[in-house]
Amino acid sequence: MNIHEYQAKALLKDYGLPVAKGVPIFEAGEARKAAEQLGGPLWVVKSQIHAGGRGKGKFKELGPDAKGGVRLAFSMDEVDANVAEMLGNTLVTKQTGPDGKQVNRLYLEDGADIDRELYLSILVDRSTGKVAFVASTEGGMDIETVAEETPEKILTLPIDPEAGVTEADAAKLCDGLKLGGAAREDGMTIFPTLYKAFVEKDMSLLEINPLIVMKDGHLRVLDAKVSFDNNAMFRHPDLAELRDLLEEDEKEIEASKYDLAYVALDGNIGCMVNGAGLAMSTMDIIKLYGAEPANFLDVGGGANAEKVTAAFKIITADPNVKGILVNIFGGIMRCDVIAEGVLRAVKEVGLSVPLVVRLEGTKVAEGKKMIDESDLDVISADDLDDAAQKIVKAVGGAAA
Ligand code: ADP
Ligand code: MG
Repeated sequence: MNIHEYQAKALLKDYGLPVAKGVPIFEAGEARKAAEQLGGPLWVVKSQIHAGGRGKGKFKELGPDAKGGVRLAFSMDEVDANVAEMLGNTLVTKQTGPDGKQVNRLYLEDGADIDRELYLSILVDRSTGKVAFVASTEGGMDIETVAEETPEKILTLPIDPEAGVTEADAAKLCDGLKLGGAAREDGMTIFPTLYKAFVEKDMSLLEINPLIVMKDGHLRVLDAKVSFDNNAMFRHPDLAELRDLLEEDEKEIEASKYDLAYVALDGNIGCMVNGAGLAMSTMDIIKLYGAEPANFLDVGGGANAEKVTAAFKIITADPNVKGILVNIFGGIMRCDVIAEGVLRAVKEVGLSVPLVVRLEGTKVAEGKKMIDESDLDVISADDLDDAAQKIVKAVGGAAA
């Protein structure tokens, strides 16, 4: 689960970490009061969407010459004008995709006097099996670009889970970020505290880009992106309240109600598969034959008719879907039960696109017979190769 920058900063503030004063804004009418509350003389109006690159982003409705999604304002009138212009419009950034995201919340923040912009993140480093810091002096820009062009400017520091962030660790980070004086003193307490917040709140990512050294020599968290480990959310009912459903894909929200592992993608072939590995290979083979999957969907080992129906509804509700591939391996499940579920789902939901069904495993003959004998327009397939070619051909893709 992701949260907004202003929510992440409130959380970090509770840990005593240095963030600027700020006020979230939901309606244009709230802007002036918020500006007065902060006092100026420099304000920053920041779009709150679950995507980075906002500063360099462009509002769809405002044209290429308008300012981006993070704007400086030097007077209350400017705050007002920017809030009115930004709220409700669609921000397109490197991370949102071409459709962009509607900006429904803004964050008005005290402007900082920036000397240097640094990069700092904490993440789960799968190669060492530890939580690790990633730090770079090249903050404020795309860290992927830094990693590609100047990888020597990135420091990765895995943390021993038993010892936590030691003084030696904190010093290494300070050295890597070239911190001296007050900034170094700040760093020595900030880094262990960030780690504490990361672990206590079951975060999977805490990215501060930029962490700044201010003109007065102190450190400040200027941007904050936080993702939590979904599997640990049951431990944090307070954090669940921070979820913003408007930021999430509707189909993914619906899928989560039925405990379906679903991820929306950009292609036109809807996939319904049991097992994550099989779902991945189904997507691969669709690509191999020249088409693109519209989703990842694992209905799970114990899929019943209700789950299959829900999955079908989600797939068919996607206007991009021009064909559906059902690929089920009956291991614990029996193929005839699956066939029944698929047929029932198709009857209930209706079907306006080609559907290819590939079944394998226990009671496969019975399952196939049921599909073949139904009056529904279902194309039956013998194996995964056959199924993928049939569905790609049916949507007019590039299958041989
Ligand atoms: P994003 O990463 O989505 O573009 P940031 O919060 O990192 O958004 O803001 C982009 C840039 O805007 C920062 O790198 C910084 O230069 C500037 N900026 C952001 N917040 C402030 C602030 N409170 N005061 C001064 N400058 C800011
Ligand atoms: Mg940023």
